[in-house]
Parts: sequence; C-alpha cells; structure tokens
Amino acid sequence: MDSKTKTKALQEFTEATGTILNPALRGWKEGGGKVVGYFCSYVPEEIITAAGFLPFRMRATGSTGTELADRYLSDCNCSFVRNCFNMVLSGEYDFLDGVVWCNSCDHVRRVHDNWKHKVKTPSFLHFLSLPKKTGEKQVRWYQEELALFKDSLASHFGMEITDECLWEAIRRHNQKRRLQRRLYKLRKGERPPVTGAETLAVMVAGTAMPLEQYGQLLSDLLSELARSEGNANYRARLMIVGGILDDPSYIKVIEDQGGLVVTDMLCFGSKIMWEDVDEGAKEPLETLARYSIKDRPGCPRFFGVHERRAAFIRDMIREFKVDGVIGERLMFCDGWAYEHYMLDKDFKEEGVPHLMLDREYLLGAVGQLRTRVQAFLESIGR
Ligand code: SF4
Repeated sequence: MDSKTKTKALQEFTEATGTILNPALRGWKEGGGKVVGYFCSYVPEEIITAAGFLPFRMRATGSTGTELADRYLSDCNCSFVRNCFNMVLSGEYDFLDGVVWCNSCDHVRRVHDNWKHKVKTPSFLHFLSLPKKTGEKQVRWYQEELALFKDSLASHFGMEITDECLWEAIRRHNQKRRLQRRLYKLRKGERPPVTGAETLAVMVAGTAMPLEQYGQLLSDLLSELARSEGNANYRARLMIVGGILDDPSYIKVIEDQGGLVVTDMLCFGSKIMWEDVDEGAKEPLETLARYSIKDRPGCPRFFGVHERRAAFIRDMIREFKVDGVIGERLMFCDGWAYEHYMLDKDFKEEGVPHLMLDREYLLGAVGQLRTRVQAFLESIGR
C-alpha cells in the first residue's frame, strides 16, 4: 500500500532513511559540520544541537551481517546492537565525531563497553546514567547527568554551551515535534493521506538530517498532503507498539495485507514527539531531564510506568479509531517481552484485538509475517 501522493519530500525522506550516510548528512560533513551519534531517545538531541553539532540516532540500516560483532556480543544480544556494532567495526560509522549512550538496556551498554576498548574513533565517547524510577529525585539526578554531559562535550571540543544556546535548541526541536504531530494528525481521518511505512520514513529521517532542511521538507510534504485525496482502500486501522523499529519496509509488509498503520508508540515514532519539552521552565537542563523522566509515556526500562504507557495507548486507540494493535519486539529484548505480556493481559480484559510479533532487526521471514497479519485481520472480521 502506498499513498497516492508521490512527493519529492517523501522521496528524500525515504532516501535519508534507507542509508546511514544520507545526502543531507554528507553535505553537512562536507561543509565542515560535526556529527554526534547517540543510542536511545533518552539522550537529548537538544544538547548536541546547542553545541552546533548534528545529532544522529544510531541505526544499522544496510547491515548485511554480524560476523565482526559476534566476536564481542553473543547471540542473546538483540540483533539491533549486533548489526549496529558490526557496522561500526567495518568502518561505516567513521564519519562520527562523538558518540553518546545511556543505560537504556544491558545490550546497549555492552556496545559502549566494547566500543571503548575495540574502536579507536571517535575520541569523544560519553555515557549517561539514566535512573530507573521516575520521581522528582530522579529528575534532579538526570539533570546532573545532563550537566556532566554538556560540560564534557563543551570541554572536549573547546567551546561553551550557554543556557541561551540550549533554549534555542529546545525551541528548534519543539518546532520539529510540532510539524511531526501535524503529520500524525492527518492520519486521524477516514482517508489518511500517508501510510504508516511512509510516516516511519519521515520520522527516522528526522534523526539523521540537519534541522532546517528537515523542517522545510516536512512543511512541503504537509502542504502537498493537505491536497491529497487520501487512502480509503484498507481493511483495518492498526496501531503498532514496540521499541526500535526503524525499517519502513517492515510496516509495508503489514500494510500490503490491507492493515493501514494509522498511529504508533515506537522509539522512532510518537514516543519522541507527542509532547513538547516545556519552554516555560526555569532551567534548560531541568526541563530536558523532566521531559525524559516524567513527561513522556516512558519505555519498559523504567520501573512502575506501565499504567502511564497503557493509558497513552488507550488514548491513541480512541483518537485514531484503531481496530487492532500490533506489538513488535526484537528477539531477546527482555524489556519489551514483559511489557507486551502485560499489554496482552490488559487488552484481553478490554476487548482490544492484539497481535504480538517477534522479529529480527533485518527484515526476514516475510512469508510468516504476511500469514500472521492476514490471520489477525481475519480474526477481527476485516
Ligand atoms: S531492542 Fe531491547 S534489547 Fe535491543 S537495544 Fe532496544 S531495549 Fe535494548
């Protein structure tokens, strides 16, 4: 299933999502710009932007195997981290000027540990300690962590990152979030002008392009979509829930069976932009810490926030008139394994159709995926 609108903007987003070193990123580097990679959305892009650098969310797009990484990571590590570290070892991330992690999960931590010892570049590596609980004390804790990160970035690159620069970066990233929410809101109607696969391409591109260029392209896309007649030819409206899904072709397989993905709760989707960072707070690092710890629906690596997440999903189901929810999880991701188990229990009690899919990072077993989605659509009478 493709949208009827074939725009240049959509083409550029798809291109930026389908490669690591996309044309916009290459242009930025050729112009002398620096790029700082980061694992996990709890590393605030705003601090990297405030330094004048381009934040790049780590992916393993285009990976063809894990033979180099398998010397350091085991089969029990999720295939995202193995494919990603493989690309690092084969030199495909040599363009990075820095890398930042947080302890989102043990699999990601092992990438940091191995990178430190086995990879020579870049010289700036930083690890943030992200709390497990989400109270006021943890907001203070994370604020201090962010201050250490800001100071070490500034001292490594010999610069100052002022509060004014941070506020300006917060405003610019909120502007990006507002444009992304406008795209999502277009999908609430009976004839969404854009598919779930196309939307994911737009969202992933937003973590790999300079802000101004991205904002301009997204504004162009929104204007063109406003004139589109939209998609009416679908069997069911679906929501997709899970972690690090960055491959639009996975959603395309689902949509080719007739289930249009109208919304999500994904790390590259609504979870990173459904709320703005509060611009009225007193201190920029405090508001960034609060955004990570308290304001967002949170992911399963946090303790005691399942109810908040479930409420977020219920609101989405109602707002986007969702007929069924698909949960996706990378094999051996323990966080999402127990989260989907609990969601399945909630959904059974509430009568929400729910399909749980395990997958590997690289798209495979497509025949099985098609069959399971077809059976799911039939089971909900579509
Ligand atoms: S998918 Fe799960 S295991 Fe893999 S990096 Fe994300 S949180 Fe960690």
